[in-house]
Amino acid sequence: MSDACIFCRIVGGTIPATLVASNDHAVAFRDLHPQAPSHLLVIPRRHVASLAEATDAAELGALLLLAAEVARSEGLAETGYRVVANTGNDGGQTVHHLHLHVLGGRAMQWPPG
Ligand code: IMP
Repeated sequence: MSDACIFCRIVGGTIPATLVASNDHAVAFRDLHPQAPSHLLVIPRRHVASLAEATDAAELGALLLLAAEVARSEGLAETGYRVVANTGNDGGQTVHHLHLHVLGGRAMQWPPG
């Protein structure tokens, strides 16, 4: 937990967010600047800077399962959706607390920019 980390502060409740689901390891909330009709972020409760620093398989499993759960609750399971973990500078990561983007509600392009 770091006071300097906005996602730690969302987990701690000192920054407001639209929470949609959680489990023992992870919390899901709506992205402040949605890039698709449904755009959720799924983050570990614990501060982990990025996927490159992740070591706990149970925690990563919980993140993925929560991503699939919120995709179902958003009604995306049948049409499909994208799960992205931007990692490091070239990956385009801007918030240095591991997060999965869950994007859906429109057709995605490939390759991503
Ligand atoms: P990244 O660029 O992959 O690190 O994604 C960071 C994401 O966090 C971006 O999509 C931002 O819109 C989102 N974001 C930043 N601050 C907040 C917040 O306070 N609440 C919800 N989403 C946020």
